[in-house]
Amino acid sequence: MLVIECILNQNARDLGAATYPSMNFEVIGLCMKYHVGMVQIPCPEIACLGFLRKREPGKSIRDALDTEFGRECCRKLARIVGDRVKMYIDNGNRVLAVLGGNPESPGCAVQYKMENSDNGISEKSGIFMQALFWELSQKHIYLPFIGIRDCRPEWLESDLHSLELIIRR
Ligand code: SF4
Repeated sequence: MLVIECILNQNARDLGAATYPSMNFEVIGLCMKYHVGMVQIPCPEIACLGFLRKREPGKSIRDALDTEFGRECCRKLARIVGDRVKMYIDNGNRVLAVLGGNPESPGCAVQYKMENSDNGISEKSGIFMQALFWELSQKHIYLPFIGIRDCRPEWLESDLHSLELIIRR
């Protein structure tokens, strides 16, 4: 399972954005229950903007990532992650899914083009997730992308349910 950094470590989130004191226990518990290994995707906001998400006054984090520099930085990170995914697959592993973040996450939101669509993710998705989806498709790797929406308990429950179905199939 490919997971964004803040699922394993909430300290990666911007100040005040953490839902848990340390990690998303539900997702990790589910992976433990089914003996699924996790590969951590480095936080794109930290990788591209630094830990403090440095940006010009008045600019949102999304504004700062949605620039030539930010998109190129996300593309580079997506290339590294994509190469790693391919390496796992080429060496006999099954990669189950990519777990992204909350719907408003500038880097990692996962928004589908259509509800329940496996037809790709939309431009409303995080800048990094768009780059990763593109990178994987260039490698002919098509994985389910699931936004783990821990900002609302009912959304999280639904996402955990989807995730469990993917693990069990
Ligand atoms: S950019 Fe992604 S990994 Fe980083 S804190 Fe936001 S959702 Fe988590």
